Amino acid sequence: KTNETFEPIAIADAASDEDLIWNISLQARIDAALASGEIYLVFQPKVDVATGALIGVEALVRWNDPARGHIAPDQFIRQCENAGRMSHLTRHVLTHGCLAGQELQRACGPVPVAVNISATLLHERSIVRMVREVLSATGYDPRLLVLEITETYRIADLDRAGAILAELKALGTKISMDDFGVGAASLEALMHLPFSELKIDRLFISRMGSDPKAMGIVTNVLHLGKDLGITVVAEGVEDQKTLQMLRDSQCPVAQGYGIARPSSLEDVIIFQGLASQS
Ligand code: C2E
Ligand code: CA
Ligand code: CA
Ligand code: CA
Repeated sequence: KTNETFEPIAIADAASDEDLIWNISLQARIDAALASGEIYLVFQPKVDVATGALIGVEALVRWNDPARGHIAPDQFIRQCENAGRMSHLTRHVLTHGCLAGQELQRACGPVPVAVNISATLLHERSIVRMVREVLSATGYDPRLLVLEITETYRIADLDRAGAILAELKALGTKISMDDFGVGAASLEALMHLPFSELKIDRLFISRMGSDPKAMGIVTNVLHLGKDLGITVVAEGVEDQKTLQMLRDSQCPVAQGYGIARPSSLEDVIIFQGLASQS
C-alpha cells in the first residue's frame, strides 16, 4: 500500500527536476530570442466587411529558431508559460506592437493594433502597470490599442479579472474577447467582463458554408453582439464565399487568410493602399 503511494511521488519528483533544468534553459533561450529578433511580430489585417477597408491589425508572434526552425505560436506560448516567461513575452509584444502602430499611423492614419493577452495574466494587477508603462514609454495613443484576451476559460476569478480589465479599459484601451464560442463559460465571461469586441472562433466561420448549425451560431452571435453593443469580428475567413455570407449576415469585421495573411508591416501598408483604391 505504501509503495503504491510512494512510487508515483518519486517519479513526479524526478520529472520536476528535469523540468526545472529544461525550464531554466528554455527561459534563457526565450530571453535571447527576444533580444536577438528571432522572436518577432507579423501583422494580420482586420477589414470592414462592407467596404474591404483596413480597420485594424492583429500582432501575432513568430519564432524562427536557427536550430529548431519555425516554432508554432501555440506550442511556443505554452513553452513560455511553462518557463514563467509570459509576462516578459507580453511586454515585448506590447512594446513592438505599439511601435508598429505608430509606424502604421504615419503611413495610413490611425489604425488600431491588437495584441494577444493570455487570460492567465489577468490574475495579477501587474498587467495594468505593464500596459501603462508601455504606453508611456512608446507614446502610443491608448485608444488605438486593443487587448485581445485569449483563453478566457482559464480565468479563475471573474470578479478579479473584471476589476483588472476595468483598469485597463480606464487607460483608454479596448478589450476584445478572443476565440468566442470555444472553451467553457464564454457567455458568463461575456456577461461579467467589459468587452467592446468579440471574435467568433474560426471553428464556426470555417464551417458556415457546409454546416447549418455553424451558420445558425454565427448569425445568432452577430445578433448577440448587436444587442450588447459589442463589435463582432469573424476570424479565419479563408474564401470569398465565406466573406460574402458574412456580408449578407451584416457581420461588421472580418479577418483571415482569404483576405490577407499575417505579414510584415510593410506588406500591411501596401495592402492598405490597395484596399483604399478599390
Ligand atoms: P488567435 O489569437 O486566435 O490568432 C489567430 C490565429 O489564426 C493565428 O495563428 C493566425 O495566423 C491564424 N489565422 C488567421 N487567419 C486564418 C485563416 O483564414 N485560416 C486559418 N486556418 N488560420 C488563420 P497563429 O499566428 O499561429 O497564432 C495562434 C495562437 O497563438 C493565436 O490564436 C493566439 O492565441 C496565440 N498567440 C499568437 N501571438 C501571441 C502573443 O503575442 N501573445 C499571446 N498570449 N498569444 C499569442
Ligand atoms: Ca487573437
Ligand atoms: Ca482567435
Ligand atoms: Ca486561438
